[in-house]
Amino acid sequence: MLLSNIKIYDDLPDEKVLEIACQKNKINIKEVNTWQVVKKSIDARDKNNVHYIYSFKINEPIDVYKDEDFFVQNKTVFDEPPVIVGAGPAGLFATYLLAINGYNPILLEQGKSIDERIMDVENFINNRILNERSNVQFGEGGAGAFSDGKLTTNVNSELNLLVLKTFVKFGAPNEIMYLSKPHVGTDILRSVIKNMRLYMQRKGAIVRFNSKVTDFVITNNHINGVVLENGEIISSEHVILATGHSARDIFNCLYKKNVKLEPKPFSMRI
Ligand SMILES: Cc1cc2nc3c(=O)[nH]c(=O)nc-3n(C[C@H](O)[C@H](O)[C@H](O)COP(=O)(O)OP(=O)(O)OC[C@H]3O[C@@H](n4cnc5c(N)ncnc54)[C@H](O)[C@@H]3O)c2cc1C
Repeated sequence: MLLSNIKIYDDLPDEKVLEIACQKNKINIKEVNTWQVVKKSIDARDKNNVHYIYSFKINEPIDVYKDEDFFVQNKTVFDEPPVIVGAGPAGLFATYLLAINGYNPILLEQGKSIDERIMDVENFINNRILNERSNVQFGEGGAGAFSDGKLTTNVNSELNLLVLKTFVKFGAPNEIMYLSKPHVGTDILRSVIKNMRLYMQRKGAIVRFNSKVTDFVITNNHINGVVLENGEIISSEHVILATGHSARDIFNCLYKKNVKLEPKPFSMRI
């Protein structure tokens, strides 16, 4: 059952608001076996009547995160593990989905792990020494790790829920699931990103920091692998370029090759 449009003028704990919602709907709180907040927003349109609006779901199964919810249908078997370049939000979630689906992906990031990266960021703030590969933009978590942490988007996709559920699973507060303008500060994001990476590694992902991709192996107009700065070649028929929108060097590298890449006929649906 949904109890919606509950107006609250004070900052109260959710349990207290639930009691008020039950009273308003003439429901005995003792008959509530399960409950969860499904929405909490602030209505500030009228300055003299600012209030919260809550909705609860009661006596229905509680939504719990399960990896199974994100298993792919019609799983394709790969000869070699897929390679993901860039450990920003796009690369992390691509790796995460591939890892929980048993693809043993390889994630390559030019910058450092979040813990080491924090030291480089502080070194820049305090001493103005810039590490071009490890800074507020580059490294584990990408630009997302030191962003403002606003979790809002205009993209209307069911995958938005995957992002929020995953963040909660790895330590973000549960309230991001129902706040209308959710936010996770950098302090929390750091541990969420690290926990997510440790889990992916337990699920078979290989995560390599200090690994800048500088070139590609291209045969018959298909990418068949990547070349690292030290000359190492990692071959894979499936390469995901998640290098962010400012990675001109890598886009130039493809552009200069002047090849017309043909996409491979492959898609996965959750
Ligand atoms: C100051 C700031 C505040 C922001 N605040 C918000 C906010 O509040 N909410 C919000 O939704 N968005 C915010 N954003 C935007 C958000 O951070 C980006 O949309 C998001 O990070 C893009 O994710 P991405 O994975 O595509 O790329 P990125 O986060 O840019 O990650 C790309 C990664 O690829 C790596 N890489 C690049 N080239 C190579 C290579 N050749 N080899 C190996 N690795 C490579 C980089 O080191 C980097 O770690 C903010 C951005 C900034 C800069």
